[in-house]
Amino acid sequence: MIRENLNRLRQKIKEICQKCDRKPEEITLVAVSKNNPVSVIEEALKYGVKNFGENKAQELRDKFEVKSDGIIWHFIGHLQTNKVKYAVKAAELIHSVDSAKVLDEINKRAASENKIQKILFEVNTSDESNKYGLKNFEDLKMLAFAAEELPNVKALGLMTMAPYTDDKKIIRDCFIQLRQWKDELNGLGLQYSELSMGMTNDFDIAIEEGSTIIRIGTAIFGERDYSQKWNEQ
Ligand SMILES: *Cc1c(COP(=O)(O)O)cnc(C)c1O
Repeated sequence: MIRENLNRLRQKIKEICQKCDRKPEEITLVAVSKNNPVSVIEEALKYGVKNFGENKAQELRDKFEVKSDGIIWHFIGHLQTNKVKYAVKAAELIHSVDSAKVLDEINKRAASENKIQKILFEVNTSDESNKYGLKNFEDLKMLAFAAEELPNVKALGLMTMAPYTDDKKIIRDCFIQLRQWKDELNGLGLQYSELSMGMTNDFDIAIEEGSTIIRIGTAIFGERDYSQKWNEQ
């Protein structure tokens, strides 16, 4: 099933790119493996997936311990200060930085791991449906410029989640806002290249609006089974 799902998804990405004059190579596919067992990750690896995303720090830590060869791990969930160490240990890219506290902790942990942690800032573009992420541009600007001063952090861009809705205009407006905020920061002297936006239900719109990283779970792995934990399946 994963193989067919991936074929279908890659074909769809290709078609959307053709329609909006982009290249599929510009878009990194992060397979969101949350709540799925390691066997499922191994299967996706076989079919050429390299980037995997998790939204819980302990789950990422545990999966990283059993499976890290050939995998680029992404942390995409809300991050608490006391869990930063797990994310920094395992993740190539942390998508969800939204406070000075977490940013400073990432810098500290990255220094002790001897790495430069790549990060994105999470923006709340939808207000009511998503309680995490930065809501106003001034806060984002302050954090973004604070990050430039930290030796063990490298900020590459922005991430957002659109609300779950059938209203495509609402979704599109979220993605347009993220792109505009990135452009605005770059106008102030930053050089952000990444926009992490688009999930199973809205990646087509996200690609049309300039996404460089899409985070896809359901379209690859099917509906998640929350009646069992990943390590009990
Ligand atoms: C679960 C999750 C995804 C993937 O969602 P699907 O709808 O299954 O594709 C993407 N991004 C974040 C932050 C998530 O938590």
